[in-house]
Amino acid sequence: MAVILSKKSPSAAEKDLNSIRKGRDLSFFDLVSIDQVTPEDLGLLYDVARRFREYKTYKFSFNKGSSQVNAFFEPSTRTSSSFDLAAKQLSMDTAGVSSNSSVEKGESYLDTVQTIDSYNVKTIVIRSKESGVPAVAARYTQASIINAGDGWHEHPTQALLDGLTMLDHCKSKDMKGRVVVIVGDIMHSRVFGSLVRLLKTLKAEVRISAPLTLIPEDVEKFGVKWYGKVEEALTGADVVYALRVQSERGANGFIPTLREYSKMFGISRKRLDLAKKDAILMHPGPVIRDIDVHSALAAVDEQSYILRQVENGMAVRKALLWLIVDRIDGKKKTFTRK
Ligand code: ASP
Repeated sequence: MAVILSKKSPSAAEKDLNSIRKGRDLSFFDLVSIDQVTPEDLGLLYDVARRFREYKTYKFSFNKGSSQVNAFFEPSTRTSSSFDLAAKQLSMDTAGVSSNSSVEKGESYLDTVQTIDSYNVKTIVIRSKESGVPAVAARYTQASIINAGDGWHEHPTQALLDGLTMLDHCKSKDMKGRVVVIVGDIMHSRVFGSLVRLLKTLKAEVRISAPLTLIPEDVEKFGVKWYGKVEEALTGADVVYALRVQSERGANGFIPTLREYSKMFGISRKRLDLAKKDAILMHPGPVIRDIDVHSALAAVDEQSYILRQVENGMAVRKALLWLIVDRIDGKKKTFTRK
């Protein structure tokens, strides 16, 4: 008989999570790039995240006494709220810094981040318009830095939650023999930056489709194949992953109009039907309805896994925060504040 985990007492649930963890630790202190995540890290994160997902909104005492600052210098809905809730469900205290901060007055990112670090917080989650802010911050803080999306570069926790969503759908430990089609503004997308690296590790066949003007020059180094005709890319796909046209990064200058883009590359029912029968549709959000994805498919269609991605985002971020704060081996980051 299946055990319903969400009926356990909080202390029994903590015991269960500890037994799933089996004394394992993450190999990194900061998460700046998905390249830092080893196959062992991935296994640990996913074992724990699947458990957290079943315990839903349980309040765990794992990170009691630790604090987190969510420094979001650029708009965010899913990433910021899930990092905040995840920390709270692990009993952390949290504070938020937004684009409304002293950076707007001319303070450097480094000074702002070191100010936050002086509160002795354990984790600083950073979202920035520019690439590279989390990488620089990680060199000058005692707190663990988590990249929540930096410019056009990377968004590692998005890739982690997407990987979990795909693997669970495929009921597999990797994506070998599976076709993932990424459609949209590849060039300006940090989501692509992390996801393509992870998919390579997971051994997926990755096809990309977008106007050539939205494709970075040396994209083949990731082992992906570009398709100018989205229909060809979608044929036989297991996962259809749509990306938003990143207007705030000037992407509109690379296409005739959004309407034309949508006509050529938007995911419609007819196009999704070219993929395998049980293919899933994914999108990191925010979805711009009737541009990236046709409205009827966006959230309600049974092939749409967009809200499942959001649910997995909570679970993965909880797993990451627990494991990054509570490193059993007791090692510390080497930086010490003067
Ligand atoms: N939410 C994702 C990001 O922050 C995708 C997007 O904004 O289109 O990059």
